[in-house]
Amino acid sequence: MNIVESLRAILGETAVLDAADTATRSAGVWRPDNLQAAALVRPATTEEVAQVLRWCHANKVGVVTHGGLTGLVHGGDATPDQVIVSLERMRAIEEINPTQRTATVQAGVTLQALQEAVEEHHLMFPLDLGARGTATLGGNAATNAGGNRVIRYGMMRDMVLGLEVVLADGTIVSSLNHLIKNNAGYDLKQMFIGSEGTLGVITRLVLRLREQPVTRNMAFVGLDNFDHVAGFLRHMDRSLGGTLSAFEAMWHDFYCLVTSPPARGKPPIAQDYPFYVLVESQGADRELDTQRFNSAMETAYESGLIVDAAISQSETDCHHFWELRDDVEQAMHGGIPVIFDISLPIAEMDDYTANLGASLKAAIGEHRLFIFGHLGDGNLHICVQIQPADYLRLRPVIEQQVYAPLAAFQGSVSAEHGIGLEKKPYLHISRSEVEVALMRKLKTALDPQGLLNPGKIL
Ligand code: ZN
Repeated sequence: MNIVESLRAILGETAVLDAADTATRSAGVWRPDNLQAAALVRPATTEEVAQVLRWCHANKVGVVTHGGLTGLVHGGDATPDQVIVSLERMRAIEEINPTQRTATVQAGVTLQALQEAVEEHHLMFPLDLGARGTATLGGNAATNAGGNRVIRYGMMRDMVLGLEVVLADGTIVSSLNHLIKNNAGYDLKQMFIGSEGTLGVITRLVLRLREQPVTRNMAFVGLDNFDHVAGFLRHMDRSLGGTLSAFEAMWHDFYCLVTSPPARGKPPIAQDYPFYVLVESQGADRELDTQRFNSAMETAYESGLIVDAAISQSETDCHHFWELRDDVEQAMHGGIPVIFDISLPIAEMDDYTANLGASLKAAIGEHRLFIFGHLGDGNLHICVQIQPADYLRLRPVIEQQVYAPLAAFQGSVSAEHGIGLEKKPYLHISRSEVEVALMRKLKTALDPQGLLNPGKIL
């Protein structure tokens, strides 16, 4: 059996790259290595995806689906005997319906392309994350992406109304629901969202759009203890009447990292506080929104919740504030970062992070620890910087220190990046034996030969 020739007979010459051509492509935005696979196919339609899967199913060849390759957990890794299905040619925005407030798209459309396309209708697709220009909507759904606005609009799961999926045997399940409410039986799409390509290949999506906010108010805030961070979240959410759109926390060392050279960012407030918060409100009334935001900030200051704040005076300020929060790349200076995306109850965060600093010191010695994240969602990013020479030796030790304490309060080893290959050994910390057994049952029911993204998650 010649995989490349067989697939070329189905899809045509140019739609199939052989192993050598595949190996000239990068394995991803964050990756130094190149792809490997027996072939990389680029179907242009759902029917072509189905034909490829039907052939792979009949010939017992593993299939790994690729979107924008911006993942962080090796969820898209393939082996030399497997076929990569890249959805890069399925980039059509098929319909934007301003009355129903939905968009129908092919899976290869980038997040940013959709964000820009809906703008002229004064609509918004609220998912937003740093990789927006490269990450695809199919990939966002397959990984249930999170990002910066989850506190207001939820994760990708909450924005998908319908899906079209190709199953392992090539069956097309067209479940392109446009309705917000549809309780007619099981909600099948949710099974595929966040399944990381292990249950089916997502080919088209119906997405829910929201009205575009017209105002934005932001502040960079300094706080003197963690209880005040938690209190400030509740205070702002209550005071802003539903317009709170982001609440990002930064621990002292992260704030200093992104506001000191070689970072280009300047500190909007002093570098002396143990905690910082970036708070954002988006609304529709230029005068009233600013008044309400400023008065919420004033009462927070008067009641002692916050000790310092820089309040945005313009869109430029807002942009600058977000640049600081997003400048995670600074963790590459002076070492190599090991990055985590854990979830835990807000009430546990202070103890957890304080203990982590101590336990890492005991386990790995000198290191730098940067903590930041989407606090309103209970999601922290932990970034442990070590020296490149120690990376392979220390990485498992660090993983152990970060993950093990989560079990005590049912925290999650993955808030938003997924499991892929990287977190497979730690899935049991966040999911019970019964839960994992049910996942296996689902996997076996939908993909009995284990051909879809083999070895990922389970
Ligand atoms: Zn994040």
